[in-house]
Amino acid sequence: MQLKKKNSIIDFVKQLFSDCSHLLFPHCCEGCGTDVLSTDAYLCARCLFELPKSGMIAWPSNLLERRLRGRFPFQAAAAGYYYRKEGLIQHLIYQLKYGGKREIGVFLGQLLGHELLKSHRFATVDALIPIPLNEKKLRKRGYNQAEAICEGIAQVWKKPIVTNLVGRTLNTTTQTKQTQMGRWTNVQKAFSLSDKIGAEYAHLLLVDDVITTGATIESCANELLKIPNVTISIMGVAFSGSH
Ligand SMILES: [Zn+2]
Repeated sequence: MQLKKKNSIIDFVKQLFSDCSHLLFPHCCEGCGTDVLSTDAYLCARCLFELPKSGMIAWPSNLLERRLRGRFPFQAAAAGYYYRKEGLIQHLIYQLKYGGKREIGVFLGQLLGHELLKSHRFATVDALIPIPLNEKKLRKRGYNQAEAICEGIAQVWKKPIVTNLVGRTLNTTTQTKQTQMGRWTNVQKAFSLSDKIGAEYAHLLLVDDVITTGATIESCANELLKIPNVTISIMGVAFSGSH
C-alpha cells in the first residue's frame, strides 16, 4: 500500500514535470501545428497517416525503378513518399534543408527504416551511403541532410553508415539555373571515389532526400560501381517525378 502511494506520487511528479516542460518548450506538429505532441514526435497521428506513401519499397518495377532502369546497374530502388507541390513532404524537406531542422531528416529516416525492416527487396544491403553534399552547401547548412536521413534509417534498421567512400568534386551551382545539358555534364563530374576503396561492403544503399530526374543518383552510383563486385540499391525519402 505504502509502495503504491509512493509510485503514484512519482507518477504525479513525472506528469507535472512533463506538463511544465511542454509549457516551457511547446512542441507542435510540423504538419498542422497542433500542440499535442510528445517531445520526440514531429507529426501528429493524423498528419502521419496523411503522408503520401508510395509503397515502392515493397514494389518491384515501381515508377522510380522504371525511370532509372537501363541507365546504370542497380538491384532495387524506391522512395518512401511522393513529393507533391505544397504538400507536407515538401514542407518537411524544406525545413530539413533550409530551416536548420536536421532532426526532421532523422525522423524521416526512421519512417523509412521501419519500411526497410519489413522489406525483402533490400534485405541484403550491407551499408548506407548518404549522397555527399558539396563543401559550399555543407558549410552553409552545417550538415548533410542525406546523412541525417541515414542516421534515422540506421536507428531502426541496424546498418553502418559509410561517408568516406565517395566525395563531391565540384562546387556545382544551383541546378535550376542551368540548361538541361549543362546540368547533366555538371552532375556527371560531381563525384569521385576515394582512395580507400575496400571490398568491406558488397551491397550499398545510396540515400538521398528527393529524387527527381535521378541524374545525381546516377552520377554517384557510377562512381561507386568502380568498386569491383559491388551492388548498388537506391533509396530516397521522396520521388518527385510524374506518376
Ligand atoms: Zn498534424
